Amino acid sequence: MPAIQPRLIPGHQIVAEVVDGATAELPVGMRVGVSWMGGVDGDCWYCRHGMENLCDKPVFTGYTVNGGYAEYAVVRSDFTFPLPLGLDDEHVAPLLCAGIIGFRSLRVAGVEPGERVGLFGFGSSASLAIPILQSWKCEVYVVTRGESHRKSAASLGATWIGQEDDKPPVDLDRAVTFAPSGKVVVSALASLRKGGVVAINAIHLDQMPRFDYGKLLWGERQIRSVANMTRQDARDFLKIAKDLNIRPRITSFPLEDANKALLAVKQETEDGSAVIVH
Ligand SMILES: [Zn+2]
Repeated sequence: MPAIQPRLIPGHQIVAEVVDGATAELPVGMRVGVSWMGGVDGDCWYCRHGMENLCDKPVFTGYTVNGGYAEYAVVRSDFTFPLPLGLDDEHVAPLLCAGIIGFRSLRVAGVEPGERVGLFGFGSSASLAIPILQSWKCEVYVVTRGESHRKSAASLGATWIGQEDDKPPVDLDRAVTFAPSGKVVVSALASLRKGGVVAINAIHLDQMPRFDYGKLLWGERQIRSVANMTRQDARDFLKIAKDLNIRPRITSFPLEDANKALLAVKQETEDGSAVIVH
């Protein structure tokens, strides 16, 4: 994403304790989480219509304001969530963006219990969506490049797993794409039944290739993007994560090794989420 601050502390899935500015709901010492959505204006058309994820003046943690690669961070109390006990700090952190937005993607795709759902691309967000789909008795079809991602999907109990150009053996009701690739969106579309939905969980997409409207979109198929999240998404997902005991796979790095962590993510040398601990 283009830099909009000359200097910035990154980090958009913060787990910390309240040390100052306590409120009745967030007393000093409470363990809390802060996500990508760091604030909204509250009075634009979108905020007034229950779509704060689309706010015209959003604050993004670790992007428009400083984030969590730090000893202390200043955040808005109304965008700070108490965290469920039972999940330790390192395992709860990846839930705060990858988890919440993966969950929102399922909502945007309109997933109903028992449906056949495709996950195209398989990183942190997709792996956190699988247990939710399983709890809804959905069949999960995973298409992903990378042997380690396919192994990871297998260990989480996906119904079927294919490589980049494989087509699931059945027509899908819903699909979520997690790769920043328009080609993947077209593959997902090609796997849908009539009336099915593809939700694109990606801030960037290289380009949408030309595709055959009659074959791929006709029949009331839909393509939707997934943008940010609402606070309700966060609260709903954190409750489900607690109930299902969702535990992401992680690798921890000390704060001093933040650059090593970023490189590991870039080079895909770690299987799970990289978490920075101070
Ligand atoms: Zn707004």
